[in-house]
Amino acid sequence: MLDTLNRHLMHPLMAWREGSQHLQHLRTVQQTQFDPPDVIRARQLAALKAQLWHAWDTVPYYRAAWTKADVHPSDVRELDDLKAFPVVTKADIRRHNRALVSSVFDVSQLRVKRTSGSTGVPLTIYCDEAAMQWKTACTIRSDEWSGYRLGQRVAKVWGNPEYRQFGLKGRLRNHFFDRAVYLDTLDLTDERIAAFALAIRRHRPGLIFGHAHSLYLLACSLKKSGVRDVRPNGIISTAMILHDWQRAVIERVFGCKVTNRYGCEEVSLIASECEEHNGLHVNADSVYTEVAEPAAPPEGRAAGGVGLPAAPLLVTDLCNRAMPLIRYQVGDVVVPSTRVCKCGRGLPLIERVEGRDADYVVTPAGHLISGISLTENFAVLIPGTAQVQIVQESVTQLRIRLVTDDTFGDPSRRKIADLVRDTFGDGVRHDVELVDAIPQEPSGKYRFCISKVAREHLEAMSV
Ligand SMILES: [Zn+2]
Repeated sequence: MLDTLNRHLMHPLMAWREGSQHLQHLRTVQQTQFDPPDVIRARQLAALKAQLWHAWDTVPYYRAAWTKADVHPSDVRELDDLKAFPVVTKADIRRHNRALVSSVFDVSQLRVKRTSGSTGVPLTIYCDEAAMQWKTACTIRSDEWSGYRLGQRVAKVWGNPEYRQFGLKGRLRNHFFDRAVYLDTLDLTDERIAAFALAIRRHRPGLIFGHAHSLYLLACSLKKSGVRDVRPNGIISTAMILHDWQRAVIERVFGCKVTNRYGCEEVSLIASECEEHNGLHVNADSVYTEVAEPAAPPEGRAAGGVGLPAAPLLVTDLCNRAMPLIRYQVGDVVVPSTRVCKCGRGLPLIERVEGRDADYVVTPAGHLISGISLTENFAVLIPGTAQVQIVQESVTQLRIRLVTDDTFGDPSRRKIADLVRDTFGDGVRHDVELVDAIPQEPSGKYRFCISKVAREHLEAMSV
C-alpha cells in the first residue's frame, strides 16, 4: 500500500516540486525499448549526429582534436563512420578538463561528478540537468527489469550513504521518500551485517542493491546465521565484476535472480541484464558503445578459459551536452555480442563485462590475460585457498595475496610456482602474502586482479 502510494503520489509530487521530467521520460523509454534494432540504431544515429555538431560548434577541445585528425561531423552518415574520430582517454579529460565543457553552459550551474580515483586517475565530470533527468529515467527503466518497482523500499549494500551529505534535509528525505536502508560497506563487521539483516527482515525491501562482493559477503553471513526469509523482488549487482560463484550463493540465499548492471560515474548507466540474465542490454537511449578490435588470445589457450579476447569499450554519451564524452575509453574490457535477446527488446547486447583494464595482466610476451579467469583458476587449483588477489606490480613481478584455510601448505606453494611459470613463462617472479581478508578499495569495491601495467597496453590497442 505504502509502496503504491509512494510510486503514484510521492514520486510524481517530488518530481513536480523539483521541476524534473524524469517520470515522463520513463514512460517514453519504457515504450521505445521494444522498438526493432534498426529503429533504435536510426535513433542513435540521429542523436549521435546532433551531439557531434554540438561538440564541433561549442566545445573547444573537439574542434581542435577533430581538425587535427581531419574529421568533421558531416563525415558521419552511419554509426560506423564514428570510427575515424579520435579516442578520448582519462588522461585527455584530466589534461583538458575545462576545454571539454561546452561554451553554452555556465559551469557553476552544472552538476559536478567526481570519480573516486581508485584506478589512479581521479576525474571531474560536468553534466547538465536535462541529461541527468534523462539518465535517471533510463536507470529506473533497467532497475525495474530486476523485478523491483519504483516506490518500493531499497536496501543498499554500499559505502557511505549518500543522503548523509545533505544533513537533516537528506535524512528527512530518506526517511519519508527514498526509504532506503544502508549497510555501510566501508566498515563491514559481523555486528553491522547482523544489524542490517535485522533491518531488511523488518522493512522487507523490494530491491537489494550493491557491489557484487559485498552482496556476496552479506549472503554468506545470512546463510551462516540461518536467515532464509529475506525475499526481495530484485537484486542488482553493480560497479564491479560479478563472479558466477558469487551469483550462485546470492541467488540461493535470497531466492531471487541477481541482475548484473554496468555503468560508471562519467556517463552513468551503460548496460544492464534483463529478466533473461543472458548478456547485458546497452542503454542505447543514453549512450552509443563500440569496442576496439579484440587482441588475439595467447596461443594454446582455449576460448572460455584464461585469455579471452580483450576488447576495450568506447562510450559516446548521447545526451550530456555540458561535457560531451565522445569515443571515451572508459577503462573496461567487454565481450561484444550480435545476438538478439529473447525478451523482445531491441536494445543491443554486450555478452559480458570482463573487468577494468587494470583487471587484466599482461605477460612479458605481450599477451593479455583476463584477471577474472586467472584468479578463478588459481583459487580452484591451489590447495587450501579461499580467495585470491593477484597484483601485477610490473611485467615481471607479481604479488599473490591469499586467504587460506588449514590445508594450505608447501604443496600449495609449489602449485603457485607452477601456475605462475605455466601462465607467464620463466622470467616472472612472485611473492605470496597470506592475509585474513582481501583488502577493500577506498570506494568500498573489491578487486581480485590489479595490474599496474595493463592499462598502457590496452590504450595502445585502441588508438
Ligand atoms: Zn533482454
